[in-house]
Amino acid sequence: MPLANVLLVDDEVPFVETMTKRLTKRDLRITSAFNGQEALDKLEKDRSVEVVILDVKMPGMDGAETLKEIKKRYPLVEVIMLTGHATVESGIDGMKLGAFDYLMKPCDMDQLMSKVKEAVAKKRQHEDKIIEARMKEITSRRV
Ligand SMILES: [Mg+2]
Repeated sequence: MPLANVLLVDDEVPFVETMTKRLTKRDLRITSAFNGQEALDKLEKDRSVEVVILDVKMPGMDGAETLKEIKKRYPLVEVIMLTGHATVESGIDGMKLGAFDYLMKPCDMDQLMSKVKEAVAKKRQHEDKIIEARMKEITSRRV
């Protein structure tokens, strides 16, 4: 079983290809998208995605817009933003919009892996809490 199901979104095809290889070697299951709309389509089709690694700078729907849509439709999916040196500010804005964290490109693989692991742990914990709350609700109704 993979460590996590991850959707990688970036408009640079060689970057996506290289990262997919590297992250797959590190036991992640990677789905990829090359723009914001494609990312939303993939999320719609594949509900097993737990973490999205999202490029800030993309033509058309940019990272911030894509992030907003993802958090609106799938609030439990965690998003890690990838920013360039010139767009660090947008990483910070991303945090305000609900991103889990942001990393600067080119990103260190160990650092990215630890962020992904933290993000997926947060998501799973969040889901467990929701299940627990629902169970409490059900059992309290019976009394
Ligand atoms: Mg880009």
